[in-house]
Amino acid sequence: MVNFAIFATYMSLVTLHDKQFKPYITADAIHTRVEQIAANLSADLKGSFPLFIVVLNGSFIFAADLVKMLKFPCEITFVKLASYEGTGSTGKVNEIIGLTENVENRTIVIIEDIVDTGSTLEKLHDLLKHKNAKQIKTATLLFKPLAYKKTIPVDYICMEIPNDFVVGYGLDYDGLGSNLKDIYVLA
Ligand code: 5GP
Repeated sequence: MVNFAIFATYMSLVTLHDKQFKPYITADAIHTRVEQIAANLSADLKGSFPLFIVVLNGSFIFAADLVKMLKFPCEITFVKLASYEGTGSTGKVNEIIGLTENVENRTIVIIEDIVDTGSTLEKLHDLLKHKNAKQIKTATLLFKPLAYKKTIPVDYICMEIPNDFVVGYGLDYDGLGSNLKDIYVLA
């Protein structure tokens, strides 16, 4: 007789390259938190015509879901920065596609997929401060408090997680896994 519990667990594991990942955060749980963060952003920033700066690639799904829930006028732009190779941070942030918008005197919301060591966030934050942004807020899907080494406040956090490597909902492992609708963790 087939053991369905084991079968289901086996079926839900995902293999990406050389590694296996197990289910971690469901799409429903993500949706609920994104809705709450959108409500908080709407309450805090609705009169300020903010510019949302989406950090590619990992935050593309989070950002798309989040901005659809915002009930106030805002602008959205994209930057691409990278500090990761494989499953570990290199600690060095390389700016790939820079910011072209004028941010002077504007309220900015940085949209991140994960704040891990905080190097990416710090780099972007410094750049925006240097360009005289009026107010800089940060919204992130995931936050790893045990890995965070910086002092910049992370204002809107959907979920805190331990120092685990995760994929799905925009997050990839060497190019794979970002299209998964749930979040998975290294098994
Ligand atoms: P930080 O600069 O904060 O150390 O790293 C931020 C970036 O590293 C994130 O935007 C993301 O691209 C990548 N990153 C950090 N942790 C993870 C993880 O658990 N999974 C994946 N796929 N990327 C991560």
